Amino acid sequence: MRQEAKLAKTIPTGKEYWLVARESRDEFRNNLDTVSFTIGNVTVSQHRPLIIAGPCAVHSREQTLAIAQHVKEAGADMLRGGAYKPRTSPYAFQGLEEEGLKILAEARELTGLPIVTEVMDPRLVELVGQYTDVLQIGARNMQNFPLLREVGKYAAQHQKGILLKTGLMPKLKEVLCAAEYLAHEGAEKIIICERGISLTTGDTRNTPHPSFVRELRQATFLPVIGDPSHSTGDRELVEHTSDMYLAAKANGLLIDVIRDDEPDVINGHPVCDYKQGLPASRFKAYLNSLRKEK
Ligand code: PEP
Ligand code: MN
Repeated sequence: MRQEAKLAKTIPTGKEYWLVARESRDEFRNNLDTVSFTIGNVTVSQHRPLIIAGPCAVHSREQTLAIAQHVKEAGADMLRGGAYKPRTSPYAFQGLEEEGLKILAEARELTGLPIVTEVMDPRLVELVGQYTDVLQIGARNMQNFPLLREVGKYAAQHQKGILLKTGLMPKLKEVLCAAEYLAHEGAEKIIICERGISLTTGDTRNTPHPSFVRELRQATFLPVIGDPSHSTGDRELVEHTSDMYLAAKANGLLIDVIRDDEPDVINGHPVCDYKQGLPASRFKAYLNSLRKEK
């Protein structure tokens, strides 16, 4: 009841999303600026692309700590890595769960990089939240409304960030309404991530949609980044796709990184998203070229 009263007061009648809409804030209405906020020691702002990098999944302590050090040395801002993995097949590696979260926390201690990791289940928000700086909502869960509410509430209470990935075939309104669910719970440090749309059959994984980044940037003051790894599924396309995202005004990138000599199996499990992982030395070279341009 109280919540409805608050809603009625602050949201103009007929608006499906408002708290995240560019038009709702005077300072953003007539420009393409994004809101700034801090996560750990990182300032997220429009002035510098935010680089989040790391393994697709935490497979082992050794693998994760090594990649964490590589991406830190290359100049990444945050470390990504999944401890709970949304896998198409129930027989695929599902993640190390809490053990994976502990490894990520150790990686943060070692490198100082804030952690970004996915939470899939509303019942696990508290647990994942204890270890991470940014809670990731995966593409398949963009419209999991109970999860959005839990994550939004937790992030608001604990000053955490949220990385909201766009769905498999999302409409602009659907992405913005998903972000609105988070903002309605009080979350402010929300980053939207375009991760490609699911158009094709055959071997092509997804299709990057940089123009959607641009549309999102125009519609919201929240930062919007691109994911050249999941949107292509192919490491040979990662650097060029990153350039396309940045040209479309993305505020940053989320990049899967592997070690240069990464084996394709770790502890008996095929390495998650191996084909799209950018070897650490290539990641470093790409970031160097990017930072030099600026
Ligand atoms: C990921 O970032 O590891 C991931 C599973 O991405 P998506 O939800 O975009 O498929
Ligand atoms: Mn992945």
